[in-house]
Amino acid sequence: MSDLFSLHNDSSISAQQGANPPSNVELRIEELRRELDRHSYLYYAKDAPSISDATYDSLLRELTELEAKYPHLITPDSPTQRIGAAPVESFASVHHATRMYSLGNAMDFDELDAWLTRTLEALDGSKEGVEFIAELKIDGSSIALTYENGILVRAATRGDGTRGEDVTANVRTIKDIPLRLAEGKLADLASVELRGEVYLPKKSFDAINKAQEEKGHQTFANPRNAAAGSLRQKDPRISASRDLATFMYARGDEGLLTATQSEFLQLLSDSHFHVNPDVKVCRSAAEVREFCKKALETRFDLPYEIDGVVVKVDSFAIQEELGFTARAPRWAIAYKFPPEEKTTVLREIRIQVGRTGVLTPVAEFDPVSVAGSTISRATLHNEDEIVRKGILIGDTIVVHKAGDVIPEVESPIEGLRTGEEYPFVMPTVCPSCGSPVHRDKDEAALRCENSACPAQLQERLSHWVSRGASDIEGLGTETIAKLIESGLVCKVSDFYALTLDQLADLDLGRIKQDGTPAAFGTVMAQKVLDNIEGSKHRAVSKLLFGLGVRHVGATVAELLVEELGGISEISAATPEELSAIPSIGPKIAEAVCDFFSLDSNRKVLADLIRVGVDLSGVPAEKLPQTLAGKTFVLTGTLTKFSRTQAGEELKARGGKVSGSVSAKTSYVVAGEAPGSKYDKALALGVTVLDEDGLEELLGKAVDEQEPGVADE
Ligand code: AMP
Ligand code: ZN
Repeated sequence: MSDLFSLHNDSSISAQQGANPPSNVELRIEELRRELDRHSYLYYAKDAPSISDATYDSLLRELTELEAKYPHLITPDSPTQRIGAAPVESFASVHHATRMYSLGNAMDFDELDAWLTRTLEALDGSKEGVEFIAELKIDGSSIALTYENGILVRAATRGDGTRGEDVTANVRTIKDIPLRLAEGKLADLASVELRGEVYLPKKSFDAINKAQEEKGHQTFANPRNAAAGSLRQKDPRISASRDLATFMYARGDEGLLTATQSEFLQLLSDSHFHVNPDVKVCRSAAEVREFCKKALETRFDLPYEIDGVVVKVDSFAIQEELGFTARAPRWAIAYKFPPEEKTTVLREIRIQVGRTGVLTPVAEFDPVSVAGSTISRATLHNEDEIVRKGILIGDTIVVHKAGDVIPEVESPIEGLRTGEEYPFVMPTVCPSCGSPVHRDKDEAALRCENSACPAQLQERLSHWVSRGASDIEGLGTETIAKLIESGLVCKVSDFYALTLDQLADLDLGRIKQDGTPAAFGTVMAQKVLDNIEGSKHRAVSKLLFGLGVRHVGATVAELLVEELGGISEISAATPEELSAIPSIGPKIAEAVCDFFSLDSNRKVLADLIRVGVDLSGVPAEKLPQTLAGKTFVLTGTLTKFSRTQAGEELKARGGKVSGSVSAKTSYVVAGEAPGSKYDKALALGVTVLDEDGLEELLGKAVDEQEPGVADE
């Protein structure tokens, strides 16, 4: 089915009221919708289309034209409305009808057996004939859909289980979710909340990652993250382009419509939901295990990812008898597949030189697909680690993903050695600049100490522009590499001297479709220049962090600025003065002094000041310290400022911002979907402010934020 949905936009909704339609038009519209819904269902939920794509498109076109002519007949459940609506700034919070629980886990068959036995025992006399239903555990993101009188009115993410985010606009674009239910028990309910899993087919996952890569954006670690990320897009048009799909499996509010889970799945399917067909009602532990084994074998043939099997007691009456623990239902368990391992061949161990000159060995192996994505490299951390694992170059190795995300080399398979393998030797010189490397006294790490080392330079420049530092958007790794290569940038202050022409003509090292070399272009160049200009007055703690002094992370940088002021004060401080600051140990003090005693670093600072970067630490205009002595804790999502901004506003007025609530906290500022800090504030009787309250406290001195530039 071709994607005609994307041809429309929602402007038709606001169009002028149409003329009164002839009576047969309303009828025709209704018929078209019914027919299109039915074919969507057959196509997406049943995978059994009964008309051609062209026929479908032609029916949809007729409906679209009629609706364009009579806009007042458009309803939100019309198949023409599966289009991305306008972007939103933030998601409203939604209270779930009942809590969205997580599930208990069984990590192997023994644990699964133990659970089955325990469950039957808990049922005591009634254990005769208890049936279990085994369903595939879809690796996606859970969703709660609310229908009123059969019409989809709301969709929410799980969130913290009690409150989720309203993602209705995005969910409307998911093609296998009925915007209105087929006639039946569910459609008859005034209101019903249904639950299931939103997932990304493997094929779409690969396509998205390829596109992300081409755009130079971060790729998703696995389909689950990609699904969750796509669901939470601020721009529904992006969600619409992502090919999300669902499997529905539960009711979220009270009320029994069927006696068993298996019958309920049938009811969902009859109502036109996409329901996973691969379920089995099991009468014994052996049958459950059988199903799990089969799922383990077939998982790789499925077009979507599963990470286990969910086993539930089939009877709702028995489910109720068993009830819930604080975290999860007692009547269900998730049997989790063992972490996926693959074997591959280690081709090389390459050295990566970090920002501070640390040499890290990285394993490069033949690409293998593990737990949903293709991997070909994994850090080996340091030499000792390689020796401990006994890895030789050329070895067949076992790889897996730690926490299902980070690729890791587990071990070599010694039995497969041919004699050609050889041990890795750490280099004695830096692979980037050739300077001799040194081993730190008390660390396992080897380090290149040449501050002009190109590899370090690349990392340092990337660090300087990163979000937590000077936060210059638009300067990705590749662009920086090209800027270094072309000789335009060799220290951080050089960014500020770039001209429009230099940036616009920057050769990106790629060839465009028309055969000419790709360049930055004027529009993009101007944007980046604006971003560079805007970065000159970032909080001085961020800039200090950006300089990349060893052991000075974001928190230490804030501490130093708070205690000492600007960078000139910090650079003039003696080791004793620095060590006198609480939480600053001798190691940090020494690193700070070492950094600022180097001529090359002093020159960087002088250059930054010369090009207009504000390192003084004095706010341009010192605000009255109206909040001195007050401590604030921020929780939840703020809509008018980012949390960082809110914190900076508070600090600029003398307030302190802390991460945890205690009796000493003066105020807790709670945005949308606040976390446990909110509950703690209530328990301790700490005053809670909403966003308006915060604004009032700040004396409305906050600049109005431009719409569309929220920095989350
Ligand atoms: P976990 O997040 O690993 O604790 O697993 C619990 C989650 O599995 C639930 O919150 C659901 O989102 C998800 N899940 C996937 N498939 C199913 C299914 N068939 N039945 C129940 N939950 C499922
Ligand atoms: Zn080097």
